[in-house]
Amino acid sequence: MKTQQFVVIGLGRFGSSLALELVDLGYEVLGIDKNEEVVSDMSEYLTHAVVADATDEEVLKSLGIRNFDCGIVAIGDDIQMSILAAILLKDLGVRTVVAKAISVLHGRALEKLGVDRVIFPEKDMGIRVAHQLVTPNLLDYIEISKEYSIVEMKVPETLDCKTLSEINTRAKFGCSIVAIHRQGKVIVAPTAMDQLRAGDIMVIIGANDNIDRFESEAV
Ligand code: ADP
Repeated sequence: MKTQQFVVIGLGRFGSSLALELVDLGYEVLGIDKNEEVVSDMSEYLTHAVVADATDEEVLKSLGIRNFDCGIVAIGDDIQMSILAAILLKDLGVRTVVAKAISVLHGRALEKLGVDRVIFPEKDMGIRVAHQLVTPNLLDYIEISKEYSIVEMKVPETLDCKTLSEINTRAKFGCSIVAIHRQGKVIVAPTAMDQLRAGDIMVIIGANDNIDRFESEAV
């Protein structure tokens, strides 16, 4: 079992899937939801699952919330509850607080409260799916900042057996291939002499414009 401990508040669609994935990755997860049925459905899969109102400070204290490394407020629809739970997690001293927002304004309010990371699951997924739809070889897309991204792209037949120095993404397109997945193995930090094979997955980092240019001209 890994040492980082997570508390997930709100076990709706987003919260439950996040909590289950963290458990699968080997972390301890406490799930909190005010709905008894939701908690009983999840209790056998999470390290602990409790029925509680996350806006009740005394209850959170009694659960030892301040000892958790990361708290995720996964309450979306009820903005008031989401904000109150986020304030309490921050005040009680949870080291990193992440919260889901359902609108730009909700996100701004969470940022103003000092939430360390605000996520917009629907908006982010919409952007990712749009990129995947317009670029057939694109498998995944992570925005690192407004200008820079990391993308996972399938190597097409046209690049089969080409070495990284032949493709020369850095000089020609200003982006870098930082890893290659091949048949379950990963080549991290490949060298100029490493060859791509059709069907490999290459991980590329760079400015969005440069990655776009690489996608349209080379892939
Ligand atoms: P999703 O869209 O991811 O399904 P929802 O906002 O619909 O998210 O679900 C959020 C979950 O949070 C629900 O299961 C709800 O019972 C729970 N919840 C809402 N308010 C509180 C609260 N104050 N304390 C604990 N759980 C809460």
